[in-house]
Amino acid sequence: MNDVDFSLAGATAAPTQILIAPQAVLRQKARIVRPEDMDTLKATLPGMFSAMYAAPGIGLAAPQVGISQRYVIVDLGDAEDRQPIVLINPEILTESEVMTPREEGCLSLPNQYAEVVRPEAVRVRWTNVEGERCEREVDGLLATCIQHEIDHLDGVLFVDHLSTLRRNMIMRRLAKEQKLKH
Ligand SMILES: [Zn+2]
Repeated sequence: MNDVDFSLAGATAAPTQILIAPQAVLRQKARIVRPEDMDTLKATLPGMFSAMYAAPGIGLAAPQVGISQRYVIVDLGDAEDRQPIVLINPEILTESEVMTPREEGCLSLPNQYAEVVRPEAVRVRWTNVEGERCEREVDGLLATCIQHEIDHLDGVLFVDHLSTLRRNMIMRRLAKEQKLKH
């Protein structure tokens, strides 16, 4: 099975529950995925794709569903044209000097958005679901998305790129909205 197969399986799988900040696992540094983790990892993918598509979102990191391991899924496509990528043990190799501001949100911080400045392009290396090493230069929205998801593996949220004042404002607003929901 490849990325597309797992994404298709996500169309019928029950969505995995996405954790909302301030859950402790979202602040932990996730551990490296080892070869012996691959079978259980693959079993989590359909539910993760299902949750991401249902949200809807364009990226989801394993810690967001309570799994403190280094893998993420992204898909910038739509229902008619899926473009799923599963990145296992992803690493940023190089970053462009050009920085770009882009509005970001996060499935673990529902309804909260802010402009974050990040490198416009990055070279990223990862292992795919078939165990092969991949390397690719990405830019634009995909670069932003991958950087945002890799941040999750280090316990970093997009609000950490903002001033303390803005971050506290967003986290307070999120807490208030979540309280109203329950
Ligand atoms: Zn996020």
